[in-house]
Amino acid sequence: MLQPIGVGHKSLSDYTHLVGRPLVEEIRTLAEGLQGLKVLHLSATAFGGGVSELLYSVVPLMRDVGIEAEWQVIIGREEFFNATKLMHNALQGNPLDLSPHDWRVWEEYNEMNAGFLSEGWDVIIVHDPQPAAMRQHFPDKARNWVWRCHIDLSTPHPPTVDRLVPYVVDYDASVFHLQDYVPAGLDGHAERVNIVPPAIDPLSPKNMALSAEDAAFVCDQFGIDVDRPLMCQVSRFDPWKDPIGVIDAYRLVSAEMPEVQLALVGSMATDDPEGWQFFNSTMEHAQGDVDIKILNNLNNVGAIEVNAFQSQADVLIQKSTREGFGLTVSEALWKARPFIGGDVGGIPLQIQDGTSGYLVSSPEQCAERTLQVLRDPGLGKWLGRAGKEYVRTHFLTPRLLRDWLGIFRDLG
Ligand code: UDP
Repeated sequence: MLQPIGVGHKSLSDYTHLVGRPLVEEIRTLAEGLQGLKVLHLSATAFGGGVSELLYSVVPLMRDVGIEAEWQVIIGREEFFNATKLMHNALQGNPLDLSPHDWRVWEEYNEMNAGFLSEGWDVIIVHDPQPAAMRQHFPDKARNWVWRCHIDLSTPHPPTVDRLVPYVVDYDASVFHLQDYVPAGLDGHAERVNIVPPAIDPLSPKNMALSAEDAAFVCDQFGIDVDRPLMCQVSRFDPWKDPIGVIDAYRLVSAEMPEVQLALVGSMATDDPEGWQFFNSTMEHAQGDVDIKILNNLNNVGAIEVNAFQSQADVLIQKSTREGFGLTVSEALWKARPFIGGDVGGIPLQIQDGTSGYLVSSPEQCAERTLQVLRDPGLGKWLGRAGKEYVRTHFLTPRLLRDWLGIFRDLG
């Protein structure tokens, strides 16, 4: 059997004051016809990155409304994660396909994991490409299979996407963040393709309200001077997240405002073998600057600490050059902090440029907007408030739950 992940308890009614009664009632009505539905989420890791973040909140909420939801993680070793990381990069546009050996490794691990899968599911939701080939080995283990793609497939490396699509084309439904991410090979299956952006959990330790004093207290323990301005990016150490570009932007800001500090907070995902290598390059790029704090989960930066950094920062940044959705964007906006993000992938979906944050395409633009916000706290407050309201109405977990229930209902 695959490893089951324990997720704790959540109650939909606790969210009513945030998302409003009509949405909660809509969810309860939808759920009436789905009581006892057996739903399995399959993913590659239970730690690090957006997929695990989402599942820790949506699985307990599904259970709370009567779905028998489970989450299991597939078994993989380094050779598998090396192959899937290559696949992830190629699908997001890196022009390097997997070698024949890597493809074989991917297929073999999928076959092995499919063998471990238990039977009798109404719906199996396969997250991302890592386990996507499991369905073909034992399609009868579920009545319906859904492929949930979390990555930016807008400009994939053609040989890689062409080899992946035949594995997902027979799924009963697929779910993408944006229409732009639907691969051409799924064109003829519009009725089975769903566009559903993810969401953040406003009541999780990462997003719950934290007082300014508590946020400052936590940041102080990591060596941040809480009386000086702070720029912050929270994200995995990954070239697409561009922490190097954030350091370049910080240097431009600090030339005009020497008191500024930068925190780069990044967890290491277990399915990301490149993470450490890129972490080290980022450290080198910082050249020992004491005002650049580079922290990861091994420094004990967990959900509360991420919350504290996001709540404390004077400017939050997500300067990605590729981004599937960017949960960190909604997380940042939810803290009502001014936000600056790369104009790519799911970031423009969450930010209206100039109203609820700024979209940028270079370190120079990022620095310019940062200085503008740091010099005008009134502007920062105004942007932050607009950003939070946008997240409240679009990107909180109950909306995502509603959308999943709609998909289950349509699958029949
Ligand atoms: N995250 C975290 N600690 C870190 C870095 C990231 O908890 O040090 C979380 C972050 O808060 C977010 C998720 O990991 O919830 C990243 O999701 P996102 O969609 O932004 O990017 P992905 O990593 O999936 O590409």
